[in-house]
Amino acid sequence: MSYKCIYNGVVLTMNASGEIIENGAVVIEGARIVALGNEALMGGYEFEEMIDARGGIIMPGFINGHGHVSMSVFRTLGEDVPNRLQRFLFPLEDRLICENYVRKGAMLGIAEMILGGVTTFVDMYYFEDEVAKAAKEMGMRAIVGETIIDRIAPDAQLPYEGIMHAKALIEKWRGDDLITPALAPHATYSNDEAHLKEICEISKELDVPVLMHVSEMAYEISKFREVYQLSPVQYLDHIGVLNNKLIAAHVVYADEADFALLAKHDVGVVHCVAANAKSGRPVSPVNEMLKRGVKVGLGTDGPMSGNTLDVIGLLDQVAKVQKINEKDNTVLTAREVVEMGTILGAKAIHMDAKVGSLEVGKLADVIIIDTIAPHLQPIYDYYSALVYGAYPQDVVFSMIHGKTVMQDRKLLTGDLPQIIKAVQKISKKIKAEMVEM
Ligand SMILES: [Zn+2]
Repeated sequence: MSYKCIYNGVVLTMNASGEIIENGAVVIEGARIVALGNEALMGGYEFEEMIDARGGIIMPGFINGHGHVSMSVFRTLGEDVPNRLQRFLFPLEDRLICENYVRKGAMLGIAEMILGGVTTFVDMYYFEDEVAKAAKEMGMRAIVGETIIDRIAPDAQLPYEGIMHAKALIEKWRGDDLITPALAPHATYSNDEAHLKEICEISKELDVPVLMHVSEMAYEISKFREVYQLSPVQYLDHIGVLNNKLIAAHVVYADEADFALLAKHDVGVVHCVAANAKSGRPVSPVNEMLKRGVKVGLGTDGPMSGNTLDVIGLLDQVAKVQKINEKDNTVLTAREVVEMGTILGAKAIHMDAKVGSLEVGKLADVIIIDTIAPHLQPIYDYYSALVYGAYPQDVVFSMIHGKTVMQDRKLLTGDLPQIIKAVQKISKKIKAEMVEM
């Protein structure tokens, strides 16, 4: 037996009782956690590798529940103007997006996430097999969904061609230990009823998740009210596609009836506070959803919408925005917010049996936060330090599936300078294309 150990830190388990272990240690065998507790337990093992947390926080990696990682190639493009997606993004995607852009953009985004303590991300885009390959090569855990939409798209000559690509993606990646393939109908308003039902059936038959933008846009709400006299969530219930395979991104517009349906059908919700704020959308009623038992995780959205892929930054934003929204500082405690970034996020993407907390039997997705920094000392409350104090740069170690992918801030599974250079090259081509627009 060969064991690894992470020791000399405070273990924030994020288990159901919120156990925190001072002078803690986590023992890993292969891809799994086989023991954790006080450092005294280390005496029972012989270790092939010992990782010293140097008094920092040892915790489960963060979960980025929604995004389009390859859109990092468009980061900071066409900011702060009306209709930026229609004016810049969609035409550029139609003209330029190809396997190479998707792959290089994904590598940049995955590097950023690994360096920021994210150990699982959920992605939906075109040529999604390239995202899967990049994640696999870089040792990152991901749910990858091929986009299905009612029009032609960068990788689809026909409407709904994405279903065919999604099936191929599922066939290729099903059973992989890092990659979970998925179907990703773009949104409630860009897929018709028949296709949403078909996608739902495929997901049940092949036992894969469904990723979709839900209740995000004002025009989406008015469309469903006008045509069906229903909210988008009620409409999805009405056509029978709400279930525990669905991971609904955004859910900005929702009321009591929607909360009840989301909770009843065990739909995961991913709140994208930074992207929503930047788009000037209303505040998603996250606190209300949590009170009604809806599983709400956090997502950055794509790097054109939320700009960074930093989940630690979202912790601070979600807490403050909810407190402002409800004019109440007691709303969303720091512990609840860290749960949203870890175990609750894992529940929202239906992966909590495997990841999201440090517990015996779970996969070893573990990070270390260095706390010897002026912005983090002293610490009376670990959750509060993480939510209101920590930066992604404070993450100094990351292990995914038992393999070290980042140590002392160095990415071990990719050549970061090369990755950045490749995306800069792409950005020059995008700039040249914009001059002609
Ligand atoms: Zn999105």
